[in-house]
Amino acid sequence: MVAEHDVIASIMRLEMGKTAADAHAEVRYAAEFFRWFSEETVRVGGSLRRAPSGNNTILTVHRPVGVSLLLTPWNFPAAMATRKIAPALAAGCTMVLKPAEDTPLTALYLADLLGRAGAPEGVVSVLPTDRPAEFVEWALGDGRVRKLSFTGSTPVGRRLVAKSADRIVNCSLELGGNAPFIVLDDADLEAAVDGAMFAKMRNGGQACTAANRFLVHTAVKHEFTERLTERMAALELGPATDDTTKLGPVINAKRQYDIADRVTEAIADGAVVHTGGAPVEGPGCYFPATVLGEVDRECRLATEETFGPVAPIIEVADENDAVRLANATEMGLAAYVYSGNLGRALSVGQRLECGMVGVNRGAISDPAAPFGGMKQSGLGREGGFEGINEYLETTYLAAHW
Ligand code: NAD
Repeated sequence: MVAEHDVIASIMRLEMGKTAADAHAEVRYAAEFFRWFSEETVRVGGSLRRAPSGNNTILTVHRPVGVSLLLTPWNFPAAMATRKIAPALAAGCTMVLKPAEDTPLTALYLADLLGRAGAPEGVVSVLPTDRPAEFVEWALGDGRVRKLSFTGSTPVGRRLVAKSADRIVNCSLELGGNAPFIVLDDADLEAAVDGAMFAKMRNGGQACTAANRFLVHTAVKHEFTERLTERMAALELGPATDDTTKLGPVINAKRQYDIADRVTEAIADGAVVHTGGAPVEGPGCYFPATVLGEVDRECRLATEETFGPVAPIIEVADENDAVRLANATEMGLAAYVYSGNLGRALSVGQRLECGMVGVNRGAISDPAAPFGGMKQSGLGREGGFEGINEYLETTYLAAHW
């Protein structure tokens, strides 16, 4: 992957409109999963312990869970695939990967690369289809399939859990988010705006970890809004094939209209447009970087994942108000908190009901860290020491010694 960096980045730019910077960053991130799990594979051991009763010696061993069905979304066509392929290979599983309909080419290229790198035929199969529901239903009914690892939206994840129930197929789910980005009154605003730009605008806001709502303390609301607006307004829209583009198109027209509807609703509910606010007319699916102030806590921009370049700002009175509002959702994937007092930031971070928290940091994804969510954002973790366990079964042998 590293040697073919430019080819993989170009495929993603062409098939999903990722900017050059985002595409190159994704290839580096995606390749790291192979590095990380190639090292984790040698650490798959077992354990030997004595029961407290003194009567039993407990020996545990692990084995690959078996044929794994991997389903990936369109927003990170390389990284979402390698975050599953690398640990599954490291655990010793064979697998069938079904990429998203909008982005099958990156996954097909990865399959070709794996073959060239020495993966035996049939170990990693990539099978694009435009009939995902039918295919997945058929695959989950096949007695050889033992594992489902899904990354995508919560509604589809919920349906897949129900389908997996028939054969009690082992499920890992990485689902949608609604990440709060909390800025407390003592935050370093320059750092907070830098972090916000990354957390919000990586991949044009089309990331499950994207900051979805900005919960900003009354005392710093004006200055934060002003600084964020200045940075967002400077992001010029353009085609992803242009090397200098900072903000590319959104994935398709459906998404473009969906973002527009939510923004229009928020404005009708009293939101103030600081920059952006409406889709670009003409060819291509463009939505400008948008900052909205005075956003109502109950509007869809605040309560649901938007998946686009929109930053709604909601005023909070203090850290308790911020935590309450942050947790008032069924989603629990990522969150961010900025405070000049690290102890305060860490304590707020631990009160947030989510799997990952950026503490004075807008970037959280890391192949060495456990990635995943609580509540309706998912089950299980990918990456880190934890990631390989999703593809292992455990047998315990009660041994007489
Ligand atoms: P999606 O749920 O529509 O599609 C994801 C995958 O599921 C695709 O491969 C698709 O073909 C397949 N699929 C769709 N309908 C299906 C069905 N009825 N039966 C079986 N398979 C089906 O999601 P999307 O629009 O591609 O991706 C965006 C969503 O993914 C967002 O909600 C985002 O938050 C989430 N996401 C989560 C993570 C994470 O790690 N938690 C990472 C990236 C994206």
